[in-house]
Amino acid sequence: MTLLNKTAVELQSLLHNRELTVKELTEESFARIAKLDESVQAFLSTNEAEALAQAEALDQQPLEGRGPLFGLPIGLKDNIVTKGITTTGASKMLANFVPVYDATVVEKLKEAGMVIVGKLNMDEFAMGSTTETSAFKKTYNPWNLDHVPGGSSGGSAAAVAAGEVPFALGSDTGGSVRQPAAFCGVVGMKPTYGRVSRFGLIAYASSLDQVGTITQNVEDNAMLLQAIAGLDPKDSMTSPQEVPDYKAALTGDVKGLKIGVPKEYLGEGVSDEVKKAVQEALQTLESLGAEWEEISLPHLHYAAEAYYVIATSEATSNLARFDGIRYGYSAEGVHDLDELYARSRAEGFGREVKKRILFGTYALGAEHHKDVFVKAQKVRTLIAQDFAQAFEKYDVIIGPSSATTAYKIGETNKDPLALYANDVLTVPVNLAGVPAISVPCGFADGLPVGLQIIGKHFDEATLYKVAHAFEQATDFHTQTPAIREGK
Ligand code: GLN
Repeated sequence: MTLLNKTAVELQSLLHNRELTVKELTEESFARIAKLDESVQAFLSTNEAEALAQAEALDQQPLEGRGPLFGLPIGLKDNIVTKGITTTGASKMLANFVPVYDATVVEKLKEAGMVIVGKLNMDEFAMGSTTETSAFKKTYNPWNLDHVPGGSSGGSAAAVAAGEVPFALGSDTGGSVRQPAAFCGVVGMKPTYGRVSRFGLIAYASSLDQVGTITQNVEDNAMLLQAIAGLDPKDSMTSPQEVPDYKAALTGDVKGLKIGVPKEYLGEGVSDEVKKAVQEALQTLESLGAEWEEISLPHLHYAAEAYYVIATSEATSNLARFDGIRYGYSAEGVHDLDELYARSRAEGFGREVKKRILFGTYALGAEHHKDVFVKAQKVRTLIAQDFAQAFEKYDVIIGPSSATTAYKIGETNKDPLALYANDVLTVPVNLAGVPAISVPCGFADGLPVGLQIIGKHFDEATLYKVAHAFEQATDFHTQTPAIREGK
């Protein structure tokens, strides 16, 4: 039994009663990493000396004025920049990049007194769904090491599932928090676009990217989002809308809640086990007094195609900054500037990233722009309208977070297009800019299934309410992978 099985509230009470020090808790996290990360491979780097020094300093602080996350360990996806700590985006391009500033979310975590224990593996520049496109290593699903943890925030979800850290941040451009959370049996929230600052998040597709929260339970998740959400003068897309008290939303009361269940979310391509788990979850919510009805989001069918056009178009522009001069990898022995650009990018970027840069360049090119990019933007609007219409009648929309459980390592290499198509249940949320959470709702062949609850813009509170009520009525979140207890 590890301390890290406890909730944030339990840990805080131990700290408060002086039954535990921040240093002991930090040491426990590093002990877990030492024990388990050889198998799980969630971390790209750890920050032990500094974290322990920070922990000692935090222990000196008076009990009064400590917030709910004070002294608790957290891991960060390696596309969130950390002052003085190497931040690679899992790319050779940034293998030696040591930022001179903190992302706004990191500043906020530090203000809350959280201890950053290390940086987590991911797909290169967050492009992928399995964490296999990382330039450095693969991460393994703690539930079954033959399977991927999902992606692109696979390291974040795996580290929380393995009990190496109770908290992690990821980023979600098209599902990269929700899908790995589902694959690893943990809770993952993709907030409303503009709820959390993107300042210091290495950009993939700026109109879709959001930092998201990954935890073992819903209450912890609500507290973590509370700590990082809000207006940031350094990100002009953040909203001035007030951040509500998310924990206050955890009332357990979902009586009269209206749920829309898109038939497209339980249609073709969704595995029978996943369908069954989601249908049972709907019954559970019904037994708690919620009502659900089948609905349709008619444009969902085109979501993955529109997403991949928009995401790669934005990526090609965002990644133009990696030119071998200002940041990161620079090719040696070049003869002129053109060769420096070409070779730095050819050698610094991995295959998936290059593929997407090429695709985005094609989509934006003068000859194709109208037929490809502009069309995708139109589809985006139609999808946003589908959601807006559904939310006139329903409080939340529910479906699976992923059509299947975690893939076998290497399995998806055979059919990359099928892998892109699998994102169809998560990408519409990013295209519409609405929030969504994934919570554990079952198992199939020993691998977790995730329930996706989608909400109205800036209504994360209702998502937490529903997710929490469901969690209280079930025991999926209390089950942990065998590796976690060293079995
Ligand atoms: N799988 C999607 C992609 O590869 C989503 C990635 C993400 O959300 N960062 O683009």
